[in-house]
Amino acid sequence: METVIYRLDDYCLTDAVSEADREKLKKAASILAEGGLVAFPTETVYGLGGNALNPESSRHIYAAKGRPSDNPLIVHIADIKDLKSLVSDIPEAAQRLADRFWPGPMTMVFRKSGLVPKETTGGLDTIAVRFPVHPVAMELIRLSGVPIAAPSANLSGRPSTTTAEHCIEDLTGRIDAIVDGGSAEIGVESTIIDVSGPIPQLLRPGAVTKEMIEETLGITLPEDAAIRGPLAPGVRPKAPGMKYRHYAPKAPLQLIVGRDGYSGVAKAAAELLLNKAEAGIKPALLCTPECLEELKTLDSFSEKDIIIRLAGSRADRQQTAHDLFEMLRELDETEAEFIVAEGCPEDQLGQAIMNRLKKAAAWQIMYV
Ligand code: AMP
Ligand code: MG
Repeated sequence: METVIYRLDDYCLTDAVSEADREKLKKAASILAEGGLVAFPTETVYGLGGNALNPESSRHIYAAKGRPSDNPLIVHIADIKDLKSLVSDIPEAAQRLADRFWPGPMTMVFRKSGLVPKETTGGLDTIAVRFPVHPVAMELIRLSGVPIAAPSANLSGRPSTTTAEHCIEDLTGRIDAIVDGGSAEIGVESTIIDVSGPIPQLLRPGAVTKEMIEETLGITLPEDAAIRGPLAPGVRPKAPGMKYRHYAPKAPLQLIVGRDGYSGVAKAAAELLLNKAEAGIKPALLCTPECLEELKTLDSFSEKDIIIRLAGSRADRQQTAHDLFEMLRELDETEAEFIVAEGCPEDQLGQAIMNRLKKAAAWQIMYV
């Protein structure tokens, strides 16, 4: 299959889509309406879209990604009015969250209506819905005239895609088109909140943080067990996707986390890097510039022969989230045989960053 690339002239991160770009989006939208698959930018990561009401399109999404068919898709809308037809009811808490955070990087799980095929929801009676804020995503969904099922546009098991180049890498020849709208601003996938039961529950942390949700609802938000640790045998996470080892780089990754902020992280990283190098294992380091500066002051650390990738900074965790998947993908292109990664405190956006890092580490975490 030939994959057409629609390169937008303007990445329209804040503005409306230009006339020239709208013409390209019209073509992409007609592919969607006819049952085809199109990868497109959103503010979180790139999505791999198909008509959510067409079971055949959803089947093709699973096939293109190599995704297990029990892992449901998030359905994207571009008008709050479109929510009603997809869900059986809209609980009051959901309405409050939608009023505050939509359009934006938050997904809610509702009981589904009869309109939505089970192929789209991985056989579940619930449906995950998101209203993205990216102007290109909004315009594409509107022009297609249907709700768009869109998981992250990566091959199953690889880090989510945050640029069109990543989508080209993973999906060329497997889907009909890719819309290049530049780099996804947030860089980690949406927050998922289950509102289908009596008490809302956090299923996946994201840029709409636990703190923001708790403040909006005036409750302490319970979390699904899959967020914090490996699941005990036989325990099923509420978000089926959380059970899979995502974001796994090719080399094993060891996460180092300071119990008290960042103290001790650089020293532990230096020791581990040295051990690996002495054992003839090519080490790589994924950290902040602050950590690298600390490392340079240590005798046990030598920059030579270590593959280094920086992600954001301790002072700018938004940038860390933005860079994370890109750096994991870059490390896969290197000779790295072992990756040492710096963790961060788990408040605010730190919870989303650490959730992705812990999964990349297959829960290999060293607390110092
Ligand atoms: P992705 O779009 O690739 O980030 O994956 C979508 C995520 O949403 C996966 O972790 C799914 O398990 C989760 N998800 C989608 N639909 C549902 C649902 N109905 N109930 C719970 N989790 C869902
Ligand atoms: Mg995904």
